[in-house]
Amino acid sequence: MAIARKKAGAGTDTAPRRVSILGATGSVGRNTLDLISRQSDAYKVVALTAQRNVDLLAAQARQFNAELAVIGDEAHFGALKDALSGSGVEAAAGTEALCEAAQRPSDWVMAGIVGAAGLGPTLAAIRQGVIVALANKECLVCAGELVLEEVRRSGAKLLPVDSEHNAIYQVFDFDRPKTVDRIILTASGGPFLNMDVTAMAQVTPAQALAHPNWDMGDKISIDSATMMNKGLESIEAYHLFPVGADQIEILIHPQSVVHSLVAYVDGSVLAQLGAPDMRTPIAHTLAWPDRIATPTERLDLSRIGSLDFEAPDPMRFPSLRLTREALQAGGTAPTILNAANEIAVAAFLSERLGFLEIARVVEETLNKLAVTSVTELAAVTAADDEARAVARELAGLPPRHDGRLSLVQG
Ligand code: NDP
Repeated sequence: MAIARKKAGAGTDTAPRRVSILGATGSVGRNTLDLISRQSDAYKVVALTAQRNVDLLAAQARQFNAELAVIGDEAHFGALKDALSGSGVEAAAGTEALCEAAQRPSDWVMAGIVGAAGLGPTLAAIRQGVIVALANKECLVCAGELVLEEVRRSGAKLLPVDSEHNAIYQVFDFDRPKTVDRIILTASGGPFLNMDVTAMAQVTPAQALAHPNWDMGDKISIDSATMMNKGLESIEAYHLFPVGADQIEILIHPQSVVHSLVAYVDGSVLAQLGAPDMRTPIAHTLAWPDRIATPTERLDLSRIGSLDFEAPDPMRFPSLRLTREALQAGGTAPTILNAANEIAVAAFLSERLGFLEIARVVEETLNKLAVTSVTELAAVTAADDEARAVARELAGLPPRHDGRLSLVQG
């Protein structure tokens, strides 16, 4: 984890912290703006981005008096300009404009775009050398080493937003990493924790989207149901924390109250707890290194009574094995896994692929493609492109070039 240089975390006692939100219209983005709306004097909104949701983006830009609003899909530029007419908010569109939004001078950027599409804008934010609150786990999964290299080069401060990683970040002794025995990522287990495989084969997108504890975007909700999310998180944790792959454990905890734990060599185990509400980890990054009050439910353990834990079942959730193998293989293996998963999840959501087929498509894509080393972004882009094409074929989708990474070279 990079040491923050003075610039990262800027914002003085008197000046509001200048913040930009990539993926402002999503679940993470909306939660971030909810917190900002409660402390509006402390923050100045610089740039907001979305992909297609013009109406919400324009409403947010007006409400928060943003300097810039960017819509990723250029087909919606006209609608955005019209919606912002007379507001004084600058409008722009396209993947390059997303990166420009990320590079608008600011003190803090929320990387809240979903999928590998967030890699380019997240890298652009990191190159500013400011605080980057990282929700977009896929960018670490598909290009972890390169992202961390940019963090070191720029002096940016990367703060994990994912509740598990944020929890670990809060209790990990970065000054004495050798005293850490292992980190334990908790997982709710999703909506199908206790369902047998035969029934799982029949589940619909609506059932899979109904997460028992968290209200999140569609892609991460499906990833939670397959437990691919936990696998992606273990790769994310490998990059964020100075531990080996064999020091990362996954523990099912259906109540999502203990957000994760760090076990030390002396037998001590430190955990961070809280109600399952993303506004707590987001607030931790938004105010860092300070803390701000949030409206999240106060944790009342006496009311909860008991907390449950169990080991995950890799037979019913093969994504856990696939992500572990991809992490061990290294190079472009996690990039391929991530791209194939994005295609398979989209196919499942549009009811063109069964639930259990998601892991099958990911595994077969990994089996078909050669893993290469990742020394530059071009290798990531190539692996991502190739994996998407193969996964589409395996999922029975017509060939199409979609979801290309919007990489910005340094
Ligand atoms: P959502 O689907 O709710 O929101 C995604 C955001 O990204 C929207 O603003 C969307 O715009 C924008 N977007 C979608 N596709 C593109 C693209 N190709 N290029 C640029 N922008 C795009 O996702 P979440 O908020 O749930 O998740 C965001 C990230 O945070 C994910 O990586 C997820 O894994 C991670 N995360 C989320 C948590 C949560 O509670 N939701 C918890 C922990 C991590 P539009 O609305 O116009 O489509």
